[in-house]
Amino acid sequence: MICKCCDQSIQPGETYTAQIEHGGSCAQPTVYLHDSCPPPPTRTMLRSRLSEQLRRAPLRPH
Ligand SMILES: [Zn+2]
Repeated sequence: MICKCCDQSIQPGETYTAQIEHGGSCAQPTVYLHDSCPPPPTRTMLRSRLSEQLRRAPLRPH
């Protein structure tokens, strides 16, 4: 299930609301919305992971 609000998948255990969209010709008239959307993934996480890898990498040999 994908939340219509934030386009992120709704994980098991997360509360959500199912809504029927009326009047649409969509193949999936039922839409799902998080009760509280999680914050979108940011690049900060990726950047910190990269800097961690750089820190672990051996320095240039002399
Ligand atoms: Zn959401």
